[in-house]
Amino acid sequence: MKSNQIEVDVLIIGAGPSGCVAAAYLNKKGVKVKVVEKSKFPRFVIGESLLPKCMEHFEEAGLLHVLENHGFEIKRGARFLRDDIVCNFDFSKKHTAGWDWTWQVPRADFDDLLATEIKKQGVDLSFEHEVVDTQIDNNGISITNIKDENGQQYTIKANFIIDSSGYGRVLPRLLGLDKPSSIPEHSSMFTHVKDINRPDGEEGTLITFDVLDRDTWFWVIPFSNGDTSIGFVGKTELIESYEGDMENMLKLSKYYHKRFENVDFKFNPISIKNYAKSVTQLYGKGYVLTGNSAEFLDPVFSSGVTFATESALKAAKLIDKALNNQSVDWQVEYSDYIMKGVNVFATYVKEWYTGNLQTLFFHRPENPEIKKQICAVLAGYVWDETNPFVKKHDRLVKNLAHIIHMNEKENNTD
Ligand SMILES: Cc1cc2nc3c(=O)[nH]c(=O)nc-3n(C[C@H](O)[C@H](O)[C@H](O)COP(=O)(O)OP(=O)(O)OC[C@H]3O[C@@H](n4cnc5c(N)ncnc54)[C@H](O)[C@@H]3O)c2cc1C
Repeated sequence: MKSNQIEVDVLIIGAGPSGCVAAAYLNKKGVKVKVVEKSKFPRFVIGESLLPKCMEHFEEAGLLHVLENHGFEIKRGARFLRDDIVCNFDFSKKHTAGWDWTWQVPRADFDDLLATEIKKQGVDLSFEHEVVDTQIDNNGISITNIKDENGQQYTIKANFIIDSSGYGRVLPRLLGLDKPSSIPEHSSMFTHVKDINRPDGEEGTLITFDVLDRDTWFWVIPFSNGDTSIGFVGKTELIESYEGDMENMLKLSKYYHKRFENVDFKFNPISIKNYAKSVTQLYGKGYVLTGNSAEFLDPVFSSGVTFATESALKAAKLIDKALNNQSVDWQVEYSDYIMKGVNVFATYVKEWYTGNLQTLFFHRPENPEIKKQICAVLAGYVWDETNPFVKKHDRLVKNLAHIIHMNEKENNTD
C-alpha cells in the first residue's frame, strides 16, 4: 500500500441519510467502510418532511435511538388544502401495517445527529473530504481521488463504492450516467422562518401542502424548535418570475399569508430549478447509486429521504452478501426492486400535476377505503402489492379520476 492510499471494502460518498444508513449497517456487519463527506456538518440541506417507512430503515441500521432522543416534531399525517376543501391523511388509518408516525426535521440537526452517531459506532468518516475523480477496473476495484480540507490529495482503493452524494451526483457525473427525468419540470423556492405567529395546538404544528393551482403549491413544515420551513413549488417560469422575492410570493397563499407576513427569514430564500433527476443505471461493476444521486422525482409526497434510506439499506445488504461470496443479481435484487417503488411514486407525482390525483384528494364525499390505500402510499409503503393503489398504480388513479369527472358531468347536466 502506498502511504497516501487507504484500502477499504466499501467507500461511501456523502454522509446524508443515505450514506449514514449504509455505513451504519455495514459497520455493524464488520465490513471495513470509509465515508467521505465534502462539507462540514452541521450543514443545510432541504428535505425535511419524512415518511413513516423510513423509520424502519433507521431502526434496522441501529440509528433510531439517537433520533428519538432529540425531540423532533412528530408527523402523524399530512394535510392538503385547496380553496375551502381540506384533505387530511392520518397515517394510523392506512392500508399497510407499519409505522404510523415520523418526524419533521431541520436537516442540519438531523443529519449531524446521524453522522455523529455513526462515528461513535466506529465508522471512519472524514468531513471536508471531497471525491474528485475515480477509476474503476473491470473487476470493479476502484481507485478514488480525494481532496482533503487542506487541499491535499490521497486515494482510496475499494471493492465497492456506494454513491450517496445526493445533489453532488458524483458517479452520475464522472461516469456519464445522467439522463433526463420523465417528471414534468418544476422548480422551488424556500426558506426557514421564525414562526412567531404560530397558532397554539395542532394547527401550529401540522405539515401542510397548500394547493394554489394545478402546478403550484406551498409547503409549511413546522419544527419543534419554533422555526418553520416554507417553500413554493411551481413551473420554472413562475419561480423565476419572482426572482427570489419570497415576501411577494407569500401573497399567493390565502390561508397562510397572514401567519408569515413580516416574519424574519432565517436565510435568504434558496431556489432549486428543475430538480428532477434520473440515471441510465443504478449500479455497475463495483458501484451502486443510492438516494438522490440515483433518482429524484418531486417533493410533493416527501419521498426523497425515504428512498435515500431504502436504497442505502438495500445496497448495503447486497454488498455484505457479495463480500461474503454469495451471488447477487444486482438487476433483480437492486435495480428492479428500487424502480418498483420509484415507479409508483413517479405515477403519483405525474398524476398530481395532470390534476387527476388532486381530483381524488379533493372529491367529496371521501371514500374511506380508497383513502386508506392512498394513505399507505403517502406513508412510503410503495412495495406492498396487496394495496391496489400500489399494484395498479399506473391505471387506478387515472381511471378513478375519470369516473369522478364523468359523474360530475352527469350531475351537472341533470
Ligand atoms: C425543493 C425540494 C424539497 C424537498 N423536500 C423533501 C421532503 O420534504 N422530504 C424528503 O424526504 N425529501 C425532500 N427532498 C429530497 C431530499 O432533499 C433528498 O432526497 C435527500 O436529501 C436525499 O438524501 P441523500 O442522503 O441521498 O443526499 P444528501 O442529503 O443530499 O447528502 C449527500 C451528501 O453528499 C455530499 N457530497 C456531495 N458531493 C460530494 C463529493 N464530491 N464528495 C464527498 N461528499 C459529497 C454532500 O455534501 C451531502 O452532505 C426535497 C428536494 C427538493 C429539491
